[in-house]
Amino acid sequence: MAYKVPRLADFSPAGLETAARELLGALEAEASSVGNETEWKIFRDRWMARKSGVLTLLNDLWLKAAPQESKREVGQCVNQLKARVEVGVEAALEKVHGGAGGSQLLAERVDITLPGIRRPSGAEHPVIKTLNEIVSVFRDLGYSVEEGPVVETDYYNFEALNFPPHHPARDMQDTLFIAGQAAKAQCDRLLLRTHTSPVQIRTMEKMKPPLRIVIPGKVHRNDPPDASHSPMFHQVEGLAVDTNITFADLKGTLDHAMKSLFGSSVKTHFRPSFFPFTEPSAEMMVTCFICGGSGRRGPDPCRPCKTTGWIEILGCGMVDPNVFEFVKDNGYDPKKVSGFAFGMGADRIAILKYGVDDIQLFFNGDVRFLEQWR
Ligand SMILES: [Zn+2]
Repeated sequence: MAYKVPRLADFSPAGLETAARELLGALEAEASSVGNETEWKIFRDRWMARKSGVLTLLNDLWLKAAPQESKREVGQCVNQLKARVEVGVEAALEKVHGGAGGSQLLAERVDITLPGIRRPSGAEHPVIKTLNEIVSVFRDLGYSVEEGPVVETDYYNFEALNFPPHHPARDMQDTLFIAGQAAKAQCDRLLLRTHTSPVQIRTMEKMKPPLRIVIPGKVHRNDPPDASHSPMFHQVEGLAVDTNITFADLKGTLDHAMKSLFGSSVKTHFRPSFFPFTEPSAEMMVTCFICGGSGRRGPDPCRPCKTTGWIEILGCGMVDPNVFEFVKDNGYDPKKVSGFAFGMGADRIAILKYGVDDIQLFFNGDVRFLEQWR
């Protein structure tokens, strides 16, 4: 005799329990009489069909009919019963399949003693690794990390950095310009940034001094690829602006940074140079960390430093007051603040550090080369 959902008269906990017990008893009895898949489908529909299955009737005859004060208990009871019915119907199907010889179980058998699939662990790209190392040295000094767009306007890449209109860097020979920009004013024309310095201006526009930032990123130049040039490479720049910043601060900061990067025995040396956005400007050399400054590796000459014992590592200088004029309205009055800036090529440092003899190896994606940094 098939189970029929009764109309409940007694919604008390005891009444609910009795009704629930009857229902579960009926579920068990019907499940045990299911002998094949066709019978199971009839059984499933009787209990779970959306239109007039037992579960639907439970909603209508128990939950909807319950007086307001019992709704919560009845709701909980109905939910529990639904879960039990779903499990019971599922179990009945498994029993049908198991009874057919357990062939499905056999087919799905998993040998848990077999070794798993080994997934090779990845590694940081040597250039990114170097970039991160440089950044973390300056982060420890209290610098924050700033980034900016790789496609820049002429204004941020050149004009605001004090490049005169006919500076050779603005030539097609050196810079990759975006096509179809001729209709725009010169300052709005787009190009691939040739250095990360535009981020210095962008940051000074949004943050007031004092400022200490380090800027890692990709830059592009119109250089044909060869062993030491790539049209795309990576820079890290830094900028510190405050009152009374002097060249001594620049030297002290960079000397400390080089010792953190290459070891405490490294010495630094500055020689005059020129950049449009710094005045005075300097190139910084470090004692060659491959030969220790001797210029020789045993009986052989040291190639990375060309036997001089010194390696040119970065450009730096005091921020030119003309650059501050572009962001004067945000608190960078050149009469009140001063600052220093520096920039280095992360790829070049990675080349020196790891003794790589061709910059192209970094970018042509040969896994055998990159695996060495695992
Ligand atoms: Zn050397």
